[in-house]
Formats: sequence, C-alpha cells, structure tokens
Amino acid sequence: MKIFYITSEVYPYSKTGGLADVSAALPKAIKKLGYDVFIITPYYEGFIGCDCSLFTNKEKVSIDINSQKYEFEIWEDAKNPGIFFLRNEFLFGRKEIYGDYIDNYMRFGLLCYGAIELALKIGVSKKDVFHLNDWQTSLVAFLLRYRYKLNNKTLLTIHNIAYQGIFPKNSLLHLGIKEECFYDCELEYFGDINFLKAGIIYSSRVNTVSKSYLEEIGEFFGFGLEGVVQKYKHKFSGIINGLDDEAWNPALDKKIYKKFVIEKFDAKTQNRKALQKELNFKKSNAPLYGIITRLVAQKGINEILQLIEFIKNIDVNFVLVGDGDEEVKRRFKEAMESNKNCHFYDGYSDEISRKVYASMDFLIMPSLYEPCGLNQMIASRYGAVPIVRKTGGLKDSVCDYRDGEKSGLAQGIVYEKSDFNSLLEAFVASLALFCDRLKFEKICKKNMKIDFGWRKSAKEYVKIYKSPKEES
Ligand code: ADP
Repeated sequence: MKIFYITSEVYPYSKTGGLADVSAALPKAIKKLGYDVFIITPYYEGFIGCDCSLFTNKEKVSIDINSQKYEFEIWEDAKNPGIFFLRNEFLFGRKEIYGDYIDNYMRFGLLCYGAIELALKIGVSKKDVFHLNDWQTSLVAFLLRYRYKLNNKTLLTIHNIAYQGIFPKNSLLHLGIKEECFYDCELEYFGDINFLKAGIIYSSRVNTVSKSYLEEIGEFFGFGLEGVVQKYKHKFSGIINGLDDEAWNPALDKKIYKKFVIEKFDAKTQNRKALQKELNFKKSNAPLYGIITRLVAQKGINEILQLIEFIKNIDVNFVLVGDGDEEVKRRFKEAMESNKNCHFYDGYSDEISRKVYASMDFLIMPSLYEPCGLNQMIASRYGAVPIVRKTGGLKDSVCDYRDGEKSGLAQGIVYEKSDFNSLLEAFVASLALFCDRLKFEKICKKNMKIDFGWRKSAKEYVKIYKSPKEES
C-alpha cells in the first residue's frame, strides 16, 4: 500500500502554520510503521527554506484542460527522497504562498491535477491511498472519480474548516469540469463552488485534527458547513496531531541560546535571561509570557490587545512573534510602542520562535477556536506552562493544573469563555503560580515529559488507510 500525501505546505520547505509541521512529521511517523509515503507539494519559488542545490529535476507532468496544456516540472529533494515538488513558476512563484490571488482556484485546482498525474507516474495500484489536506488539495477526491475514474481510497484531513476555497461558479469550466456538475455533483455552495465541501463529499473518509474540534464543527464552528459535516458524520473521525520529537527538542535545538534537559532545568532560565537581555528588558526576574502565531481573528487578537494594555503597569515581560494582516500588525505595534516590557517580532521566523519557546515561562493562547494547535505542545516540551482557552485541540491536550494531573495532557491554566475577563483571570492565576516557584518548576518539568509524539496518532491514521471504504 502506497500513500500519496498531498499538501500545500511542508516544513522546512514552506510554512505558514501547523499544517507544515504535520506534513513533515506525520508521513515520517507513518514511514516508521513500514509504509511507503510519497509527499507531493508545490515548489514555491522564494519560499524554499533549504538548499535548492540539493534538488533534482525529474521529468514533467502535463495536464490537458479544454485543449490547453499546463505543465509542472517534478523536483525531488535528493537528501530526502520521497518528497516531490510540483514546479510551475507562474502558479507558485508568487509573493505569498496563499495570498488573495483571484486565480487561486486555478493554482490549487491544477495542483490537484498535477498531484494525481505524478502519482500515476509513480504508479497507482488499487490499494493505494490518497491523503489530502485542507481545501487546497480537496479537489483530488472529486477528480479521481470524475476525470480519472479511479476508485482509490481518499482521506481528507481538515486542519481548519474556516478556510474552504470558495470560488465563482465559472471556475469549474476553467478547471475542465462540466457545468452540470455544479448541482448534480453537489459542488454548489450558495451559488459558488466550495473545494472543501467537494472534498468532504467525495473523500472516502474525513478527519479533523482533534476530537473536540470535530464536535464543534458539527455544531457551531463549521463556518457554514455544519450541515454537510452532520450529513457525512459517519465518515468522520478526530485524531489529535502530534509533535516531531526530533524537530522540537530543547536538548538538541541548535537555534536556542542554551540547550536544556529536565535534569538541568536551570539552563531554561539562562535562555530567558539571554532573550530578556537581547530585547533590552529591564527586569530579568520577571516572568516571560510569549505568543507565537498567525495574526488572524481566530487567535483572539482583541483579547491579546487588551491584555497588552493591562500589563503596561505590571512587571512582566511579553513577546509576540506574529505574521499576518498589516492592519493587525499596526495595532500591535501601536499597543506595544510605549511599553518597554513588551516586544513585537513582526514576521515569520523559525529561529526567533524557537528562542521564545525556550525562554518563555507561559504561553498564551486565547483562541476563539483551535482545531488542534501545536504551540501549546511545543511550549510544554520546552518547559513552559500554557494558558489556553478550553476549545478544540487545546481542550484535548491541556488540563488545568488546579484540577490535578490528567494522563497524556500538559498542565496549564485553562479558561472557558472567549472574553477578556476570563483571559485576565487566567493571567492573574499565572502570576500566583509563578510566585510559587517550587510548584511552577514541577509543572514545567512534568510538561517536558508529556508524550506529544506521533506514534499513537500515526497508528490511528494507518487504521483508517486500511479500513473498508465508506461510500458517500
Ligand atoms: P495554525 O496552524 O493555526 O497556525 P498551530 O498551533 O497548529 O496553528 O501551528 C502553528 C505553527 O506555526 C507552530 O509551529 C508555530 O510555532 C508556528 N508559527 C506561527 N506563527 C509563526 C511565526 N510568526 N514565526 C514562526 N513560527 C510561527
């Protein structure tokens, strides 16, 4: 059984968020279980975060749509065989990985065609599985049946249902899909087409990245797809994401100031002090709070802004590493301008994020919803205490330390409502915990030991790959 893992981001080649981490770590864990996994992803010119000279160019795939020919070069990382890149400079040589480009339906629609063509070149047998991720690769499920008449099993993983790939109806024709399909094949969504909806309907199985998030998207966080989720509930499962133990390990991390292990937890303080010095923070004994995030409403932007205002007069240090909307960035810069205890790192940086994980005492995640979230797992692994809202994957990976220990969960401060007062209460509780040095360190050390690895979840994915095919 071969698995074709098709994804729009893979760390370290391209990354905007957690999907990239998962696309690197899950296939690796599945390979370890003895399966052949082929990753297929776009080659984003200018974003490839590693040495391009290592890449080898192998042949091409071409796609004929309405008598027009589209081509992708096939590239492979010579150092990591099995990771294939589809290269077309016009489609993927843009300023942003996703952006708000009007031809995104063409960019990612063609990616779906290209991925199937590449799989066919590698060789597809009946037992092979296509594993799709989010709307960008969802159309594979439909195209396999509609255009290629292949009946292979497909699994769609929904990492965030808020992003659905909604485009005008006529996009269908440009992608070589007949107009009748709009209604007949249920691609229609309030007069437009919806790639993710097509993925849910045409995939044999669907999963979300935590059990609690699955419950939430069928009730209130489905962003318009609640009914579709409920209708196809029989195909759904919830599987929590894991962390790549090798990629996220404070004992091996070359990018942090000082590597550390549980037994020498003092080195964690050295990281904090080094960061505080670098950022010119005056109080080196003050607790350090960190947030590392895409700057989008989902992450609780308004609550974070209010918290920054609140901590103006308190001796705590706060670092935000964030990328996203320019207007949101402007608001953060303005909020932190006059506060010497706060620092905003504007942009995406793997190195800075790791330094902050290694230095922070508390991670703050006031997410309105969170499909899984990796930050809380990384922070725990780097000896910090997560402060999280009780939603989705946060609920499934963190428990409140005041309720005692729960097997497999990190200990943190967990609050229910997504409003500022609830976050503030949690923040005040964290100050109290920080004052109880013994208890605080005990929790940090325990958190470092939690097994957030992929082993268990990878086995659950394999179970789905091997399970009987559900018909839609
Ligand atoms: P999401 O996928 O919604 O962005 P996750 O918590 O699942 O959220 O994953 C976020 C991942 O992206 C983590 O590895 C986090 O460290 C990383 N990340 C987010 N923003 C940045 C940034 N500005 N710089 C570096 N890494 C970031």
